[in-house]
Amino acid sequence: MNIVLPKCATCGYQFKRHQLLAFVYSKKCPSCQAENFVTKKSRLKSGGFNVAMLILFLIVSRIPVGSALYVFVCLGVVLLAIVYTHPRLLRFTKTDQDIFSNK
Ligand SMILES: [Zn+2]
Repeated sequence: MNIVLPKCATCGYQFKRHQLLAFVYSKKCPSCQAENFVTKKSRLKSGGFNVAMLILFLIVSRIPVGSALYVFVCLGVVLLAIVYTHPRLLRFTKTDQDIFSNK
């Protein structure tokens, strides 16, 4: 299976999945210490995906099944989908990209 996780924009270091979950804006490469910025495009993509999953959860969890377990299972599925997909949507670049600029 071809897992497309982002690489360091400077040295090409392949980031591991767990390294990509706990950062917000930029990520330091553990290999060359260069700062990697999430590209504008992938930021919009992954942000949109996370929001879509949360909206889906809000809709699905409102179905009156009458079981608290159902809500927990829905939440678990949504979180797993985010953890699994979110890192794949990220792409790094060497320079910071202003999300509001139109470059
Ligand atoms: Zn690097």
